[in-house]
Order: sequence, then structure tokens, then C-alpha cells
Amino acid sequence: MAEPLPLPADVRSQTREELAAQFEAWSLPAYRLDQLLEWLYERRAGGWEAMTNLPRGLREQLSARFGLRSLSLARHQGARDTTQKFLWKLADGALIESVLIPATPALYGEASDRHTLCVSTQVGCAYGCKFCASGLDGWKRHLGVEEIVGQILATESWHATEAGAIPGAAEQPPAEPEPVSGTSQPSAASSGRLINNLVIMGMGEPLANYANLLKALQILNAPWGGGIGARKITISTSGLVPQIRQLAEEPQQFRLAVSLHGATDETRNRIMPVNRKYPLAALTAACEYYQRRKERMITLEYILIAGVNDQLSEIRPLAVLARRLRAKVNLIPYNDVTGLPWKRPEEPVQEAFLAALEEQGIAVTLRREKGHEIDAACGQLRLKTERELSRREST
Ligand code: SAH
Ligand code: SF4
Repeated sequence: MAEPLPLPADVRSQTREELAAQFEAWSLPAYRLDQLLEWLYERRAGGWEAMTNLPRGLREQLSARFGLRSLSLARHQGARDTTQKFLWKLADGALIESVLIPATPALYGEASDRHTLCVSTQVGCAYGCKFCASGLDGWKRHLGVEEIVGQILATESWHATEAGAIPGAAEQPPAEPEPVSGTSQPSAASSGRLINNLVIMGMGEPLANYANLLKALQILNAPWGGGIGARKITISTSGLVPQIRQLAEEPQQFRLAVSLHGATDETRNRIMPVNRKYPLAALTAACEYYQRRKERMITLEYILIAGVNDQLSEIRPLAVLARRLRAKVNLIPYNDVTGLPWKRPEEPVQEAFLAALEEQGIAVTLRREKGHEIDAACGQLRLKTERELSRREST
């Protein structure tokens, strides 16, 4: 049987320079490219036919040369003005999550009236941290550039056109997916941008999908694209040492968050297999290098898991590390995952851990917000949905 033809590159995986070269080859004036980019990134058009100020011939040329594939909303949880989760279905049927978080002061970046989006970079995850839902069913594939960029566009589109229609929205059951960025009429809200902060903390290990991530961030950062400042973009990694060093050489000033979760090799080895490949000494050296090159403050993420890493004996090594990296520590009470044995520590234990770090003079925050029924860590909505769907198929 013949191999299926590869899909044409999606237009939202292309930089302005790449598109400009194509427009030049077609002998088109530069303003046509500006019109196209406006349709893609300001009006978030989901189809070529919507681009009414482009000549029909050009729309046909574009559709023959490039794909324009939208993410479909498979499931949504959460009310407007609270944390909302989106489960997207991709062209091949794979499911990924994004989480939209209203601005909270002093979490990542400054306070603002806008929103942070937590973005996925892979389908599943190969790193198999013992506490994490994303890695439970292993790794399936990398996300393409347009699938990373598409999460921002689809969320903003959804918000502009649909959010108002679901008063106090509870949960929508899994339904036949509808393309959400396919509006042919640019909506009133489409000109204003909703998302001004990105955290690359969804499903997957971002630095394992380095090239696609960097290109997507280049597009999201560009004034002609997403227009999100590099300093408002936080990349979280479980600790891929060579890629942290590579990131230090990039021109953009991205923020770096390291999922530490243990301040000794013994603790980290127990819950994060990646630590056997890149133990703490190597990870710390790479972070120090990043910190020196970028003069950026690194954040150390530390989920508190009862009986695993919440003992006061972790405080000293954690404080030493944070001091050495001049890093801020984010303590995050563990979100229990169905089927996994790990538990969130009681509140007094969380508070004691916080106080002990503060006593050491470390800049530290503890995530205290309630209502974790939906803002459990990324990966869980997908897991739940896949399990529901497979139960349905087997009955
Ligand atoms: N792979 C990257 C980014 C995605 S995970 C990384 O590991 O950094 C984003 C964050 O969520 C990580 O800090 C991860 O350790 C954390 N996390 C995973 N499962 C969690 C859970 N059940 N409760 C709280 N945080 C969790
Ligand atoms: Fe992968 Fe990050 Fe989850 Fe570890 S914590 S399994 S690296 S997504």
C-alpha cells in the first residue's frame, strides 16, 4: 500500500520570514502578508474562506500550499473568571489540555487583569515521574508548532465567542468536537488579547520537544504573532540538563522553572526517574549557567507530597540550593491523582514547611487557593476522559 502523503505544513507553524519568502516567490506585495497575519493572529480566522479581503485566487493558492487546522474542543470545565480547563482533540484524535488561569498577583509575572494559559507540548510524557498523571500512559508524540500556537488561539477564540453563552458554566460532558477557531465573522472581542502570560507546564516535557517549542514561542512572542513578551513566558522542565544550557544561549529572556520536588538525589531518584540521568549536581550547574547568562531569576517548583518530600530534613539542602541559584521556591500542595498512592500533606505540615524555608531567608510562596476540583494538575482531564471513553467502548 502506498504511504499516505505528508500533510502540508500548517500556516501557523511558519514564521513571518518564511511566509515572506513564499509571498515573494509568488510576486505578491508585502501588504498581502500583513493581511494574512492579521487574519491568523488578530482575528483568529479558522478557515481560508473567512479571509474576505484576500483575493479568491490567493486564498486558493494558500490553501493548496499550507494547512490551516484548528483544535477542536472535546471538553471544557470551569466557570468564567475561575480556572478553566480545555481538552482539545487534535487532527489525529489525540487529546491534550490547556488551563486558563485568571491573573493572580505574584505567581508568574506581575499582577494583571488578563490571563495566564498553561500550555501542553507533547501527547503524554516519556519521563514517568511517579506522581504525575501526564506520564501514566507513556509518551505518544511531540506537538507540532501549530498545535502549541493553536492552544492560545483556540482558547482566545472560545472565550470571545462562547464563554458568555454558558452562564456559571459547570462541566460540559464529552461531546462531538466542534472546531472553535472557525468563525468567519471576526467577533468584537477578537481584537483584544485575553492571554498575556504563558506557562509551559501542561502535558509533556517541553525541553524534549525543543525545536517545535522554540519556534512556537518565537511566533507567540513576535509582534506580528501572539505579541506575548518573552519575560511573560515561563518554561517548566523536569531537569533536562543539555537543553537548559541550550536555552541559555537563545536570544529571548524566557523565565525558567525547574520541577525540583526534592533537594537530595535520594528523594528525587525516588519520584523522578530523570534524576538518574541528570543528577542534582549536573542540574544545579546547568541552572547556575542559565542564571548567569540570562541574569534571570529561576523558580524552583516543589510539590509537597505527604511523607515523601515534606519532612523538615529537606529544608536545609533546599535552602542551600535556592541560595546558590538565587532562586525563588514555589511550594505546590500535591493534587491527588486517581489511581496513584500519593497524598497532599495536611495544611499544618505545608505551613510548617513554608515557615522553615522563610526562616532560612528564602523567597518562597505556597499555593493556597481552594477549589482544586478542577484545577488539578494538567494531564488529569485527559486521563479521565480517555478512561471514560474506553469504558464506553468496552460496554
Ligand atoms: N514536564 C514539565 C512541565 C509539565 S508538568 C515539568 O515536569 O516541569 C508541570 C508541573 O506540574 C511540574 O512541576 C509537575 O511536577 C507538576 N505536577 C505534576 N503532577 C502534579 C500533581 N499531581 N500535583 C501537583 N503538581 C503536579
Ligand atoms: Fe512529564 Fe513533567 Fe509529568 Fe514528569 S512531571 S511525567 S516530566 S509532565
